[in-house]
Amino acid sequence: MDGFEGRGAVITGGASGIGLASAAEFARRGAQVVLADIDKPALEQSVAQLRSEGFDAHGVVCDVRHVDQVTDLAAEAGRLLGRVDIVFSNAGIVIAGPIAQMTHEDWRFVIDVDLWGSIHTVEAFLPGLLDQGGHLVFTASFAGLVPNAGLGAYGVAKYGVVALAETLAREVKDSGVGVSVMCPMVIETNLVTNSGRIRHADDGQPSTPDAPGALGPLPEQDATMTLADVASLTADAILANRLYVLPHQAARAPIGRRFERIDRTFEAQAAEGWRH
Ligand code: NAD
Repeated sequence: MDGFEGRGAVITGGASGIGLASAAEFARRGAQVVLADIDKPALEQSVAQLRSEGFDAHGVVCDVRHVDQVTDLAAEAGRLLGRVDIVFSNAGIVIAGPIAQMTHEDWRFVIDVDLWGSIHTVEAFLPGLLDQGGHLVFTASFAGLVPNAGLGAYGVAKYGVVALAETLAREVKDSGVGVSVMCPMVIETNLVTNSGRIRHADDGQPSTPDAPGALGPLPEQDATMTLADVASLTADAILANRLYVLPHQAARAPIGRRFERIDRTFEAQAAEGWRH
């Protein structure tokens, strides 16, 4: 994609955090934006904020757990924007805690939002993008590339998002559709608070997003990485059609170690006499 000027962009989870910062960055670069979110008051506030800064912004209430709502979002965004060029599947929640302590409802909730939400976004928007070209971005996580003890259910969902993006990128590479997947470490947002609130509003189940070690066992964080930096890196990745968006340098060593662990298995098997 050669630029954002005059482009139409849809951002799920756009009312807060990474989604809102990215919407502002896309708009600053000349795009019209549709923010989609489950949180109506936050959505209205965020759209008003962007409009007060002179940007062309709209809000659509949408729960990405429901494919019909995401399909309606695609239709409404098409009406509002004329055409949709950029789709950012970013809505997400976190549930933390060891796998042994995850309830069935914990698994359902995290996979419904974090994995099905992205699958629904592909189902709803990919046909239009394949017709006219464009770019799909996903927010996965560092926890989608490396196992994080205490974030198992979340990691299962985010590894799924990484697989979705990596596979889609291969399948559509000659179709004029670009794909990126953002895998940040911890960034200061309202993710933990919002996750608990959405879970509670949904079914009254107590959520465990702030369980001990919620986002704790991650390697050293880069405190200098701001939301605006992440948004800018994401926008640049769209222009470059770069598959991986990796804001945190501290992620590099653990990602490398994961692949070394996998690779060393071949030597361990050979040492035990296994013939490859
Ligand atoms: P955030 O809570 O500030 O923003 C997430 C937004 O998604 C919220 O506005 C929320 O209302 C919305 N949302 C949640 N469930 C939804 C649903 N079912 N349908 C529609 N909207 C829904 O948090 P954030 O940190 O900006 O999170 C954005 C993405 O980044 C998430 O996918 C998260 O997993 C991922 N992420 C965040 C971090 C971090 O440290 N903040 C690290 C790695 C990945």
